[in-house]
Amino acid sequence: MPVEPLIKSKAKLMNFEDKKLTCKECSKEFIWSAGEQQFYADKGLQNPPSRCPECRKKRKAKENVQKYTIICKECGKKGEVPFQPRDPNDILCAECWAKSRAKAAAQETTPSV
Ligand SMILES: [Zn+2]
Ligand SMILES: [Zn+2]
Repeated sequence: MPVEPLIKSKAKLMNFEDKKLTCKECSKEFIWSAGEQQFYADKGLQNPPSRCPECRKKRKAKENVQKYTIICKECGKKGEVPFQPRDPNDILCAECWAKSRAKAAAQETTPSV
């Protein structure tokens, strides 16, 4: 039976070879794979990653907990939320949010409609 070699998809990676890089955060060596290099090239990124995948993951996790300052529409107090508010004018502080949650929960127990 004929077996078609995967030349087409492999050809895309031809210019790239796995590279050994040193993480500037933990000083560990890591492999910058050809596939990843292709990914970087596709995105138009010029610089190789300076951190190993592990440190990059950690950094990302840190970035994700970035806080956004909001003004509560209920009490007018300044507050912080761990997400980007869709509508900055329609947002509750943690306190009021918890209150409205409790209210909603109470309403759920008494079925309407
Ligand atoms: Zn590292
Ligand atoms: Zn509030």
